[in-house]
Amino acid sequence: MGEAYNPYKTAQAQFMKVADLLGLDQSSKDLLGNTQREYHFSIPVRMDDGTVKVFRGFRVQHSDARGPCKGGIRFHPHETIDTVRALAMWMTWKTAVVDIPLGGGKGGVICDPHNLSMREQEGICRGWIRQIANDIGPLRDVPAPDVMTNNQHMLWMMDEYESIHGGRYPGVITGKPVGVGGSLGRTEATGYGLIYTVREAMKELGMDPKNTTASFQGFGNVSQYAISLLTELGSRIVAASYWDQADRKAYTFRKESGLNMEELWPITDKFGSINKDKARDLGYEILDENAWLEQDVDILLPCALENQINADKVKMMSKKVKIIGEGANGPTNLDGDKAIQDRGIYMIPDFLANAGGVTCSYFEQVQCNMNYYWEKDEVLQKLDTKMTSAFHAVHELAKKRKLYMRDAAYVISIERVAHASKLRGWL
Ligand code: NAD
Repeated sequence: MGEAYNPYKTAQAQFMKVADLLGLDQSSKDLLGNTQREYHFSIPVRMDDGTVKVFRGFRVQHSDARGPCKGGIRFHPHETIDTVRALAMWMTWKTAVVDIPLGGGKGGVICDPHNLSMREQEGICRGWIRQIANDIGPLRDVPAPDVMTNNQHMLWMMDEYESIHGGRYPGVITGKPVGVGGSLGRTEATGYGLIYTVREAMKELGMDPKNTTASFQGFGNVSQYAISLLTELGSRIVAASYWDQADRKAYTFRKESGLNMEELWPITDKFGSINKDKARDLGYEILDENAWLEQDVDILLPCALENQINADKVKMMSKKVKIIGEGANGPTNLDGDKAIQDRGIYMIPDFLANAGGVTCSYFEQVQCNMNYYWEKDEVLQKLDTKMTSAFHAVHELAKKRKLYMRDAAYVISIERVAHASKLRGWL
């Protein structure tokens, strides 16, 4: 029996590989290769049937050397502390690679919103804040939405924080609804940001988007907007997969002429699952969970969960695949990554590819602090500028030092965080 996948070990191994490459000393490795602070707590919630259920919650602050910690909160039945630790560490590299003045953190609650009423979810959100209200804040640690959390959850959390601290602190949390401290463009930001980097990669590889095909894993927030923008650029997206809660398994839906978001949006629920009967009526084939990565396409975009691509899965990929853009956090495990590198596929690593969300979150904070909100075009233009310049910095370094793209992105981020830690006198 192989050892169970541990995302934190993956994140630490990725870090150590680059720390060795950079010749970091032991204290730098000890500081940056581990989390700075962790909070573990219980959240008692009165359920609709009158009983009290106790949920487990976490907040992990990996590094605040470059600014307040930043990172989402996930609700997931299989959430583990090591997943949260890994995601917190990846957030530090993510904010560093796009060069925004923030650190890395992540939170989570072990729960399944599919089986919780809105009132029960509100109870979890408010309870989570009550446990951590003195250890987060606009200048300390700023949470945001992630898997299975949305702008309503963020607003309940902001409201609870403001009740506790007695004031208005819109900068305590991002991903809020527009009109109550939210930024225009936040919903699109991660998916669009991913496609800005894919667009630049296509330019570098001499690919005309109009002659490309793509396939996605996942059909949630990230995928839906990425599919829209990639379609606008002229690419044909032939397939995407999703988790079917009723059948408790994943499926791929496919259409040779290309996915059409206008017809898919009405048959998609808020968890990113489609109604497969209605999809069949619209001419989509329903295939198995792995079909998304077996498509004969140029671009693969894993945008669901971590640990989805190992070396065996890489063998299932078409010879045609030229670019992988990791919309999800940590979708590729270590042997999968090696296999991708060996095949010479152009990798846009997660903490660069999906940094659009946190970059727009940062813009949201800036707007909250100014109490002045930009038009959507302005937000998206600024996002494009940040993502494009971050992409090219990584691409150029990879080319110059003959590095794998993931390693080049790590070199940039780790150097920035180590440098800030040194300037502060921590190292
Ligand atoms: P989401 O909850 O909106 O969507 C997740 C999608 O993945 C859903 O369509 C779901 O059905 C699908 N899915 C779940 N398990 C699956 C499986 N086993 N096989 C196939 N599909 C499966 O989440 P999201 O916000 O789109 O986030 C997706 C990924 O992107 C996560 O890794 C998240 O951490 C990362 N991410 C999200 C943001 C953001 O702003 N939303 C930012 C950065 C990174």
